[in-house]
Amino acid sequence: MTSETAAGGNGGNRLVVLGAGPGGYPAAFLAAERGMDVTLIDVEEHPGGVCLYSGCIPSKALLHVSKLLHETREAAAFGVTFSEPAIDLDALRAWKDGVVSKLVGGLSTLARARRVKYVRGYGRFRDAHTLRVQSDHEFVDVAFDHAIIATGSRPAIPPALDVESQRVMDSTTALALEAVPGSLLVVGGGYIGLELGSVYASLGSEVTVVEMTSGLLPGADRDLVAVLEKRIDQQMHEVLLGTTVLGLEDSGDGVSVRLSGAEPSERTYDRVLVAVGRSPNTADLGLDHTAVRENERGFIETDHQRRTAEPSIFAIGDVAGEPMLAHKATHEARVAVEAILGEPASWDPAAIPAVVFTDPELAWCGLTEAEATERGVAVTIVTFPWTASGRATTLGRSDGLTKLVLERGTERVLGVGIVGPNAGELIAEGTLAVEMGARADDLRFTIHAHPTLSETLMETAEVLFNQSPHYIARRKRA
Ligand code: NAD
Repeated sequence: MTSETAAGGNGGNRLVVLGAGPGGYPAAFLAAERGMDVTLIDVEEHPGGVCLYSGCIPSKALLHVSKLLHETREAAAFGVTFSEPAIDLDALRAWKDGVVSKLVGGLSTLARARRVKYVRGYGRFRDAHTLRVQSDHEFVDVAFDHAIIATGSRPAIPPALDVESQRVMDSTTALALEAVPGSLLVVGGGYIGLELGSVYASLGSEVTVVEMTSGLLPGADRDLVAVLEKRIDQQMHEVLLGTTVLGLEDSGDGVSVRLSGAEPSERTYDRVLVAVGRSPNTADLGLDHTAVRENERGFIETDHQRRTAEPSIFAIGDVAGEPMLAHKATHEARVAVEAILGEPASWDPAAIPAVVFTDPELAWCGLTEAEATERGVAVTIVTFPWTASGRATTLGRSDGLTKLVLERGTERVLGVGIVGPNAGELIAEGTLAVEMGARADDLRFTIHAHPTLSETLMETAEVLFNQSPHYIARRKRA
């Protein structure tokens, strides 16, 4: 064993960041920029984490291809017909892997340029000021004044679905794109189920989605989900709502599935993708050697500065609670680093955008209509259907909807929801509006370029005052 104390320690300057995903690497980079002596630890060769290696980035690369495939098929409506595409799975996989390598390699360069010491290995706490890092058969002790835990999450697999079989995939193995199965059962109609289900459906699999609740994407407003559901129904072979998978078994030439809530209740699929949520990575971190506490769901408990119950240790990202979104982790990174530097940072966002990268995309931020109803917040709801958008019509995509959730009386923007192509980009304006405390007037008096989909935000605000040139509607009160 070798023992090492991070160089340059001056009684408070040494920071160790455990986990190099979209929480960990921005924390390390910012801390280094701010003059700290930073060690970033991760089991992978380069920084990037699940988001880059087996999450956001590879899935979006594949979803881009899905979108392209849909568009070539739908171009027939514009009088442009393509022959059926030939899909070279090896080349597609190589392209996706190339995107990942380019980005993780870039992060390594940025880490070096910032003099962040990157250590590849698995870290466990020995006490509140030492981490032991295991790489191959070597152990290195790294001493720190402060540590940030950013170890992320992993797919949650309930016991009934925990089957050792190549045919039963989680999001990581599904992204490896080993084969395009003839039939695929997707368990879970949430983010991952719908995104990866869409990828496989566009590549030619007959996809069935099973969701145990009564609707897809339980956290999103139903009027937005209804728009997505219409297209999902066309893309997927079947969507079974209110249905639970009781058990799975590899039968040799397929996976036998027992369902409750659907007939027939016994079915066989070539492959199954389990996407029923994620669990925080807290086990085997040696947290019992520190005062760090977890809540009943396994998330590390933190305060408004992301400080754990152990004063020297902070936690950010998926491991520190929901929503488990990369951009939430990145922003928590700033709060934790500034808090370590003794600055008055606080985690108190007014809105965290959520984007489901399906076709159409579905995005929302701030308060949803359902949450307003649940909490008894008096709101005014205004919507603008994309049938009234010139730009949506030019794209042949009038199926979208833009929605504002406004504080009744002040018409302050509390929440925004968008479903339609590019909703994931458009939501940024909504998030800014909520964060800045903008009112409907601010949106309608801001000149938006014509013809763009962004105009739908302006026109939704105009609908409130019955001043949308393209749409007349009565406003609805929640
Ligand atoms: P999720 O929570 O989004 O969806 C899981 C779904 O599975 C839910 O609708 C739930 O009702 C359903 N479900 C649970 N148990 C079930 C069962 N036994 N049978 C049938 N349905 C069942 O979880 P996910 O899709 O696994 O994604 C995990 C997390 O990863 C998300 O919450 C999100 O934070 C993150 N993520 C984000 C993105 C993005 O930002 N675009 C993409 C992928 C993942």
